[in-house]
Amino acid sequence: MEGGCRCGSVRWRIEGERIPRTYACHCLDCQTWSGSAFSQQAIVARERFECIGKVGQFDLPSSDGNRISNQFACPACFTRLYNTNTSRPGLVAIRAGTFDDSHQLTVVAHIWTKRKQPWLTIDERYPSWPEGAPQAELFRLIDAPVAGLSRK
Ligand SMILES: [Zn+2]
Ligand SMILES: [Zn+2]
Repeated sequence: MEGGCRCGSVRWRIEGERIPRTYACHCLDCQTWSGSAFSQQAIVARERFECIGKVGQFDLPSSDGNRISNQFACPACFTRLYNTNTSRPGLVAIRAGTFDDSHQLTVVAHIWTKRKQPWLTIDERYPSWPEGAPQAELFRLIDAPVAGLSRK
């Protein structure tokens, strides 16, 4: 699977992964950061993820200072591409809209629905949480490549 930014100067590739399941976050930070109604992310193993081209990096510490979110974007067109977080080493969260074949992705969980836009109706077949979900449960739903969780 491959993807990249809007202008084409940054491309990424995932080796040997099936199509990931994604989740949507409706929190206000994600709305602001995406410039849209919610963020949609796929989580893959860092060792299978390769980025080609120069990326810009922005590091944001959590309010308690225990975690740092490292955000990566194209320095030319400012497309947000992916992020890592010091609280989940070995994983990369890719912005779903940067997949070349983003139409193949499904959203299997929704978090922070208490901040979702009122016009948006969430498919009740999939779990949702008014605020954040327990990470282990969310990662199980999206089948994240975490050690100790079984992979299908
Ligand atoms: Zn670009
Ligand atoms: Zn969010």
